[in-house]
Amino acid sequence: MAAPWVNNLLDIQKNDLRIHELNVHLGMLPAERKRIAAAKAQEDAKLTAIADSARQLQHANRQDEATIAALRDKITKIKQQSALVRKNTEYQSMMAESDMLTGQINELENHILERLEKIDRAHQQYRQQQQASAAVVRDLKAEWLDFDKVEKEIRADIAARESERQVRSRRVEKELWETYEELLRHQDGPPLIPVRDDMCGNCCLKLTPQTLMLTRRGAIVTCDNCHHIVYMEDV
Ligand SMILES: [Zn+2]
Repeated sequence: MAAPWVNNLLDIQKNDLRIHELNVHLGMLPAERKRIAAAKAQEDAKLTAIADSARQLQHANRQDEATIAALRDKITKIKQQSALVRKNTEYQSMMAESDMLTGQINELENHILERLEKIDRAHQQYRQQQQASAAVVRDLKAEWLDFDKVEKEIRADIAARESERQVRSRRVEKELWETYEELLRHQDGPPLIPVRDDMCGNCCLKLTPQTLMLTRRGAIVTCDNCHHIVYMEDV
C-alpha cells in the first residue's frame, strides 16, 4: 500500500487524465460536424448538377425553337416574294434558299428531339439521386444528432469530474497541490509517478539514495531530474 497522500493524489490524477481525454474528444467534434456538413453539401451538389444539366438542355431547346420560328418566317416571306418574281433563275434561287432553310429547320428539330430524350433521362436520374441522397442525408442527420447527445454527455461528465476534483484537492496540502498542478499544466506525462527499480517512472533516471530513502518513508518527494512527484508503490 502506498502512502495515503499518494492514493488521494492518484485518484485525482486518474480523474484529471479522464478530463483531459474528454476534452480531446470534445475538441474533435467540430471537425466531425464539418465532415458531416461537407457530406451533406456533396449530396446537394449532386442533385444541383443534374438539375443544372437539364436546365441547360431546356434552355438550348428554347433557343433552337426561337431560331426555327425565325427560319419559318423567312421561308414564308421568300414564298410570298417568289410569287411576284418573273425570272425563272431568280425563282429557282429563292426556292433553293427556302429548301436550305427547311434543311436547317430539320436539323434543329433533330437536336431538339435528342435533347428532349436527354432531359427525360436527367429527370429520371434526378429522381433516383433524390432517393439515394435522402437515405444518405437521413444517416448524416442521425449522426449529427448523435454528436449533440455525445457532446451533452461529455460536458456533464466533465462538470461532475471537475467538482469531484475540487473536493479531493482540499485534502492535498498546498505545496504538493501547486507542484502537481504545474506538472499537469506542462502535460509531460502523469505528474505523480511510481519508482521502478530505483528509477523515476517518468524520466527513467536513477534516483539518489536520499530520494529513495524518503520515498520509502512515504514522504512527498520529487525526482531530481524531471521534478515529477515520485512515490514507492509498497511502503
Ligand atoms: Zn524523473
